[in-house]
Amino acid sequence: MTSLSHPEVRRDLTALHLELPKNGLVTWTSGNISARVDGGMLIKPSGVTFENLTPESMVLTDLDANVLEGTHSPSSDTATHAYIYRHLPHVGAVVHTHSPYATAWAAQGREIPCLLTAMADEFGGPIPCGGFALIGGEQIGAEVVRVLTGHRSPAIILQSHGVFTIGPTPKAALKAAVMAEDVARSVFLAVQLAASLGTPVKTLDPADIDKLYDRYTNVYGQR
Ligand SMILES: [Zn+2]
Repeated sequence: MTSLSHPEVRRDLTALHLELPKNGLVTWTSGNISARVDGGMLIKPSGVTFENLTPESMVLTDLDANVLEGTHSPSSDTATHAYIYRHLPHVGAVVHTHSPYATAWAAQGREIPCLLTAMADEFGGPIPCGGFALIGGEQIGAEVVRVLTGHRSPAIILQSHGVFTIGPTPKAALKAAVMAEDVARSVFLAVQLAASLGTPVKTLDPADIDKLYDRYTNVYGQR
C-alpha cells in the first residue's frame, strides 16, 4: 500500500480520526490526533476534511515540528503536540478538539467540577482548565504540560479554546476526548438544573473520588 514509514500507525490514525465527527467532537476540519513514533510523531495534515484523510496523507514530523515525510502541511497544532511529547515522555498520543460542551466550559475559563462517578473513574477529579494561549507557537503546549504535570486527568480544557487529551495510545487519548465531552454535557446540565431548582451543585467527596479512581484504574474491566 505504501512505502512510507509506520504504515500501521498511519492506518490506525486514519480510522480513529473518523471517530471525531462520528462522536460529535469536531466541525469541518477542526480537531486532530497525533501519535508518537520512532523518530518523531505522525499527525493529521492541515485543512483536510476527515473523510478525505488517508494513511499516506498523515505527516511525519520530528519533535521540533519539522516535517520529515509528507506531501501535506501538518496540522496548525503541530507545535503544541510536539511540545507535549518532548516534555511528557509517558505520552504516546494527543487528541485536540473543540467539542461543544467542553469548549463551553473553556469559554468560561472554568474547570469542569467532579459531580459524577464517571468523572472520578476516568479523570480522577475535575477536568482542569488552563489559561489562555495563542495558537501557532509553543504557548499552548507549555500550558498543557504545566497543568497536566502531576495531575490524574488525561484531559485539559484551555481557556477560550478547546480540549486536549493525552494517552498511552491514540485510542486511549480518543476515549478521553469522548468521555470529556460526555461528562462536560452532563455537568453543564446538572449545573443549570441546580440553578433553576435553587439547590447547590453536589461535588463528589475527594475520598470517594480516590476510591472510584483506584477501582476503575486497577480493578474495572478485563484483566
Ligand atoms: Zn484548537
